[in-house]
Amino acid sequence: MTENRTVLILGAGIGGIALATRLRRLLPRAHRIALVDQEAAHVFAPSLLWLMTGDRTADQISRPLNALAGRGIEVVHGTVERIDPHAKAAWIGGRELRADHLVIALGAALVPERIPGLSQAGHNFYSLTGASTLRDARLAVSRGRIVVLIAAMPFKCPAAPNEAAMLLEYDCRKRGVREGVQIDLYTPEPGPMPVAGPQVSQALRQMIEAKGIGYHPEHAVTAVDPARRRIRFANGAETDFALLAYVPPHGAPKVVQEAGLCAESGWVPVDRETMQTRFPGVYALGDVAGITLSSIGRPLPKAGALAHNEAEVLAYNIAREITGRGASRRFAGEGACFIETGDGRAGFGSGNFYGEPAPQIRLRSPSVLLHWGKIAYEKYWLWRQF
Ligand SMILES: Cc1cc2nc3c(=O)[nH]c(=O)nc-3n(C[C@H](O)[C@H](O)[C@H](O)COP(=O)(O)OP(=O)(O)OC[C@H]3O[C@@H](n4cnc5c(N)ncnc54)[C@H](O)[C@@H]3O)c2cc1C
Repeated sequence: MTENRTVLILGAGIGGIALATRLRRLLPRAHRIALVDQEAAHVFAPSLLWLMTGDRTADQISRPLNALAGRGIEVVHGTVERIDPHAKAAWIGGRELRADHLVIALGAALVPERIPGLSQAGHNFYSLTGASTLRDARLAVSRGRIVVLIAAMPFKCPAAPNEAAMLLEYDCRKRGVREGVQIDLYTPEPGPMPVAGPQVSQALRQMIEAKGIGYHPEHAVTAVDPARRRIRFANGAETDFALLAYVPPHGAPKVVQEAGLCAESGWVPVDRETMQTRFPGVYALGDVAGITLSSIGRPLPKAGALAHNEAEVLAYNIAREITGRGASRRFAGEGACFIETGDGRAGFGSGNFYGEPAPQIRLRSPSVLLHWGKIAYEKYWLWRQF
């Protein structure tokens, strides 16, 4: 009989929850699974876009993390203040927790303060608060320009800002104000979802532009003037706005940086098939992990679908290490995501990011059925995990 082991998972977002719940099904109860988060509730981030358009409430897309305790997962509330990857230990509220297997699933921190004026001028729809204030502020806009701004790369969910622009455009039509409102999307990227390849990127850009949305690639914001409601870009361009919805710059959480876990990329380097860091028994998955796609020299996108798939692989491998049962698994780079396009429709991007000589991603045209697929997935996630 194996000794009782502790798996300590830092971060109860999509990756951490998927790992904890899968592991709990695979590991005998004698082994401890501790899941740490600073928040009391999990918010299903993909649904923030529907919260923004008034189609969801915060309660509908949140679940209390304590609900996982009833399933044999030890839920620890508190902020991770320090991580020692050599000792496989973390400090939460001054208390030290030691592990046999330590998993870092702390996601990406949102750092709007990197761009002067940004947080004072606009709404960060990547957070529950920002999506909620945007939901209310949009109702006051019946003329002028709505700007959807991607402040920096990389950012999680390459599809989300494109979806936000199309959903806001649909919202203006539903509110009967579309004629007086111009919608523009500004991004430092060369095109939407460039990692998916030129054909997918071009097809998505056409979908956006067909709705009369101005698409402005290669525009890196340098500053926002909240008083004059103007945005300045590194290429010398400027624009005004009546309403600003932004994706803030992202970075690895400070506690992860301070633990010496990050590489030059700013993220935690891992083996792309096993999520193992350079420290034995220490893993990183989801948004906090940095994986470079050797085929194209770009990072693997940060997305819940990928975090989930990585977590599944890691759960089987940790369970195997502890119990000696089951086959080892490898993350093969597969992922998929729905892309809301407005009018009650969604497209679907799916494929293999580890494909050679380039990621092999396919985009299915928007349909009502795919929109319902996205809704069904939201319900499934919240029901299955909680
Ligand atoms: C608007 C929006 C739409 C999206 N749509 C999609 C989509 O359609 N499809 C898709 O695949 N992805 C989507 N994503 C991206 C997806 O949500 C993320 O990629 C995914 O959540 C990453 O999972 P994670 O577990 O790595 O990190 P997260 O889910 O961000 O979880 C990290 C957790 O760590 C906790 N934490 C951080 N620091 C600390 C600390 N110091 N102490 C304690 N706890 C801490 C946080 O509270 C959080 O709960 C979307 C994201 C947004 C914002």
